[in-house]
Amino acid sequence: MRATTLLNRFLNLPGTAVVDPGSWQVESGGGEIRVCLRLTRRRLVCPHCAFRTRHRYDIREVDSSWRHLDLFGRVCRIRLRRRRLRCPEHGVVAEGVPFARPGSGFTRDFEQMVAWLVTKADKKTICEFMRIGWRTVGAIAARVAEEEVDPRRLSGLVDIGVDEISWKKNHHYLTLVSNHTTGKIVWGRSGKDTETLNAFVDEVGAEETEGIEAVSMDLGPAFAKSVRTRAPKATICFDAFHLVKLVTDALDTVRRQVWRSALGLRDKTIAKKYKGARWALLKNPDDLTADQTGTLREIKRSGGALWRAYQLKESLRAVFAGDLDTDTTNIEAYSGRRYRSCETPAELQRSAVDQDR
Ligand SMILES: [Zn+2]
Repeated sequence: MRATTLLNRFLNLPGTAVVDPGSWQVESGGGEIRVCLRLTRRRLVCPHCAFRTRHRYDIREVDSSWRHLDLFGRVCRIRLRRRRLRCPEHGVVAEGVPFARPGSGFTRDFEQMVAWLVTKADKKTICEFMRIGWRTVGAIAARVAEEEVDPRRLSGLVDIGVDEISWKKNHHYLTLVSNHTTGKIVWGRSGKDTETLNAFVDEVGAEETEGIEAVSMDLGPAFAKSVRTRAPKATICFDAFHLVKLVTDALDTVRRQVWRSALGLRDKTIAKKYKGARWALLKNPDDLTADQTGTLREIKRSGGALWRAYQLKESLRAVFAGDLDTDTTNIEAYSGRRYRSCETPAELQRSAVDQDR
């Protein structure tokens, strides 16, 4: 097999051919491999639109260069002398090439590999592994995303979730919206306030927003405000983990109140009992040790605010744990008990009522 044929097969770039054996160089000492190519098509193609022509305006005076995937562990650069054409819409431009995106100094194969790595590894690893700059990783990801992102991703949304992630120790936030039906992220923007999610609703459009039935989110007020004002037909679903945490925190507040009032009693063992009861109250009943089960039994016998708060926590947890006979019975029992109880600490009532707004 001829060396040029072999090289063509190694490079595997569509619509190109290696010029001749003398046109490629391999630097000594593990340096770069440089290959000169030509395009096999005769027609010239505008890089920005579908315009094609046989008419050549002129030939550029210098070679264009693209970084390709490494060959044998060496950086591989492609060189090609491009022709220019006159596009009725874009004027005189250098012709587009089938193996690279317009304006990019990298081949599509190279960019696809970087884009795949972006979903698997951190930026620093990608920079070192691919031997490219920090900003280049972002530029490549943006180019690939622009071309490959599904233009219909914001259509037909029904159940969606919104959440924020942070970086640089909570100095920067990114709001992400996912489609629960497909399990895919469909939208993202920096920020985490009401305006951020409003921008999503604007992009989706009024007609498509009508179809959104449920939006899951954490307990922060910003996203809920956006949904209530901009997508009022959608049901807001608060994340179960955060709801249960609110109630367990409130339960612990009651425990500390009971413990503090017991400190004044002559029998010091009572205060000690409440101090040590934290995990007996907070853990799921199935996970309790024998000692903790005993403590819980004593709290039940004593009754009062602490036992009532514990029952409230357990009934709410059961709603989400899926071990209920009938969901509605417990939810109604929970809300009924919650409002009936005057002794339930204000914090528990407040936090629970906050969720209803
Ligand atoms: Zn054009």
